Amino acid sequence: MQGTINASHHALDHGLAVNLAGGSHHAFADHGEGFSVFNDIAVAIRVLQRDRGLERAAVIDCDVHQGNGTAAIFAADPHVFTCSFHAQRNYPFHKATSSLDVALPDGTDDVAYLAALQAHLPRVLAQFRPQLVWYLAGVDPYAGDRLGRLALSLQGLAQRDAYVLTTCRRAGIPVVVTLGGGYATRLDELVEAHCQTVRVAYQVAQAVPACRV
Ligand SMILES: [Zn+2]
Repeated sequence: MQGTINASHHALDHGLAVNLAGGSHHAFADHGEGFSVFNDIAVAIRVLQRDRGLERAAVIDCDVHQGNGTAAIFAADPHVFTCSFHAQRNYPFHKATSSLDVALPDGTDDVAYLAALQAHLPRVLAQFRPQLVWYLAGVDPYAGDRLGRLALSLQGLAQRDAYVLTTCRRAGIPVVVTLGGGYATRLDELVEAHCQTVRVAYQVAQAVPACRV
């Protein structure tokens, strides 16, 4: 919780920050579910609205499960855009309504996933113009995930991370990264998937200069 709040302040001040935890997107205002007790991103957004005068926040949720708690918490808040890329037939089976839901069919691969991102993300950023993006980088779209239903490779996950971060950064929008879910059968692959998110974030921060809108 505090890690995501701290990372959010840091991102606003320096352009990009990663919390090596967080992304508890199934937690609602009044109850937790799906391995999520408190919704760290929702709390961080409320803190930054209060303390930093944040007027437009966006959540880009690429965990394979729909960000139902986040969507419900901000359903009536026009200052927060919630966007979820998730497996259509996966948990939660009763889905909340995000500002934008991109429901992907079982077996979606690297190419189709990246195409979905490219079809929506630039438009969301251009139209809503968030001052800060929370990127929920769950690695459970991985083909080797026990709870995923999608079929991304490790390379596809890295391409996803690079695309989201580069697109935000080129638009001059700071980004907070949280880990989200990951349930790969092989622990070494799970660790590698999360590690490469952090490596990609570092590489993007080095390669793409931050600019303020
Ligand atoms: Zn998940």
